[in-house]
Amino acid sequence: MKLEHLPQEFEAARPVLQTIEQAGYQAYFVGGSVRDTILGKSIHDVDIATSAYPDEIKHLFKRTVDTGIDHGTVMILDHGTGYETTTFRSESTYTDFRRPDHVTFVRSLAEDLKRRDFTINALAMRENGEVIDLFDGLADLKHHQIRAVGDPQERFHEDALRMMRAVRFASQLDFAIVPATEDAITAHADLLAKIAVERTQVELIKLFTGQTPQRGLKPFLETGLWQYCPEFGDQQASLTTVQQRLTQGVRDETTAWTLLASAFGLTGPAVAHFLKAWKTSNQTITAVQTATTAVAELQRGPLDAWQLYACGADLLPVANQVAVILGSPDRLDALQAAWADLPMHQKQDLAVTGRDLMQAGIQPGPILGQLLKQLEHEVVLGQIVNDRTVLITRSTTLANSK
Ligand code: ATP
Ligand code: MG
Repeated sequence: MKLEHLPQEFEAARPVLQTIEQAGYQAYFVGGSVRDTILGKSIHDVDIATSAYPDEIKHLFKRTVDTGIDHGTVMILDHGTGYETTTFRSESTYTDFRRPDHVTFVRSLAEDLKRRDFTINALAMRENGEVIDLFDGLADLKHHQIRAVGDPQERFHEDALRMMRAVRFASQLDFAIVPATEDAITAHADLLAKIAVERTQVELIKLFTGQTPQRGLKPFLETGLWQYCPEFGDQQASLTTVQQRLTQGVRDETTAWTLLASAFGLTGPAVAHFLKAWKTSNQTITAVQTATTAVAELQRGPLDAWQLYACGADLLPVANQVAVILGSPDRLDALQAAWADLPMHQKQDLAVTGRDLMQAGIQPGPILGQLLKQLEHEVVLGQIVNDRTVLITRSTTLANSK
């Protein structure tokens, strides 16, 4: 197969491959960008594989960055674009089910393609568009199938993360996993427990944000992979419900976690405990706690002014999408309009500060914080206008009544 019209990203990179070839080495486009181009999808980054060793690449190009030199990866900077260029390698022994013990550089493309995970990811393309297909990846692309390169049992035993990659590609590409590959996942699912949770997390989020998460969640559930994910142990029924209700990818990572936390019935500290087990950022934990609260409220009906304010504009689409997946009506337009109409949108919008209240004679201390919160509440609910003089008068009245 030869692609006649290469996307702009490849066209721009052709001179880089030509330079490597003119020096007597081989160079190919590899990985996701080749796969996605054949599928007619847009691509983000272009990866290059070469027979040249990292030192040899560095001699050929003026500007390079050692992005992963131990693994043979050098970034070539060309006209403002960076190209990850990796020396052909074979990965021989894995003793811990996750990383090869050592990387061996080789001069053979076939050796390099052999160690790749799935046939659709083991395609290479010459700079002229000619596709090298040693493992029938093109047929699998045509039939929308994910198949391990070589013996699937061995491949998942070598690197257990590949099992999560299989289910996330099923979601991202709307593909099926072929039976022999799926059976091997079932046989080796427990090895997922050996993988660093941060790496599993990346694949799980790609699964949820992919085009057909229901398509990835099905084998995720059927193979038992779910059992080896943190805090998923008691959640088979909820995960099945989520699988059945999803018809498209969720908008982002926060939405994925909010969906899981809501489906699992978690609130407050339980949300934090769950996300800490997955090692997400603190920022994500805060956002998911807020959004999960809003989802529970949306499941009871529309949000009142204070609930809208507490959720905030950024998390409204998140909470709404999750509530819709869990069976509530889609209220996004109304929610956004109501949020825009709120008298204030964030704490800083309040027309007085703690300093103003102290100048008006209120003693510093916990009372001050309580008064500010009360004023914020009354303004958001439209019970009082957001005006400095009005708020100071109101705060002295409140302070005197305490
Ligand atoms: P994406 O669109 O998500 O970037 P991708 O296929 O490019 O998809 P990457 O994680 O960027 O995936 O990896 C690039 C290539 O490296 C893959 O296409 C595959 O050939 C190979 N690869 C990546 N991870 C593994 C792995 N764990 N085992 C074997 N090969 C892998
Ligand atoms: Mg990639």
